[in-house]
Amino acid sequence: MHRFFVNPNQINDRVINIDGEDFKHITKVLRLKKGEIIEVCDGMGLDFRVVLEAPGDGTIAGRITETSLSKGETTDMCITLFQGLPKGSKMEVIIQKSVELGVNRIVPFQSKRSVSQIKEKKDKKIERWQRIAYEAAKQSKRGIIPVIGELSELKDILQDAKHFDLLLLAYEDEKKQSLKEVLTGLCQGQEIRKPLDIGVIIGPEGGFDPTEVSMCQLAGVKSVSLGNRILRTETAGMVVLSQLNFWREG
Ligand code: SAH
Repeated sequence: MHRFFVNPNQINDRVINIDGEDFKHITKVLRLKKGEIIEVCDGMGLDFRVVLEAPGDGTIAGRITETSLSKGETTDMCITLFQGLPKGSKMEVIIQKSVELGVNRIVPFQSKRSVSQIKEKKDKKIERWQRIAYEAAKQSKRGIIPVIGELSELKDILQDAKHFDLLLLAYEDEKKQSLKEVLTGLCQGQEIRKPLDIGVIIGPEGGFDPTEVSMCQLAGVKSVSLGNRILRTETAGMVVLSQLNFWREG
């Protein structure tokens, strides 16, 4: 079934009004007719089954016949991925895949070993990344559109460390603590306060400078290993997200 995101203010009582690009898509590309059914999401975790009315001038209305919580969302975890700015177009793949894997927010950051700098206008780039998050959210039937944050720095992230129930640093040279151990420890003996706000910090291709690692540890960030193999920056975040999903299901 075709699925669209709308702004909550497009929903009035039992009717949803769709305009703009989505209107064109529904009427000109998909050529959907009165009486056909689509799925609409308010971007805040609610899905609606909607029966289309006849199209008007630049807008098409739909009658809500069913409301449900989006199946693509979980209410027990809220994950922010802090991604060290990678080279080239890797960030696009990272955004697409992490949206599929359930991330809530992605914040790119510049670190000591980031070789990449954002050359074109920053706002343009963030806008493009946000569009990729939107497409991925639509494709994977998410109930929210994950937000791409402004380009940040490690020190800004650490200033915010206290807001997280768990802030993880995937560190390639961590020898003592694995992600699995940290997650297993979290479950033991205590009722988990939900939803858990989890932050995951992933380094760029060059990894982390030791001073950055100490800064993180001082701020109470838990440094974890993802195993003995060195993963590429675009793989590391996906591994953490999949392990978090596995942990939550358990
Ligand atoms: N250039 C570094 C590797 C950087 S990999 C080196 O050769 O040592 C890029 C990022 O992916 C790392 O900063 C880390 O956040 C994550 N990462 C890759 N492999 C990892 C592992 N085995 N354990 C934890 N984090 C890892």
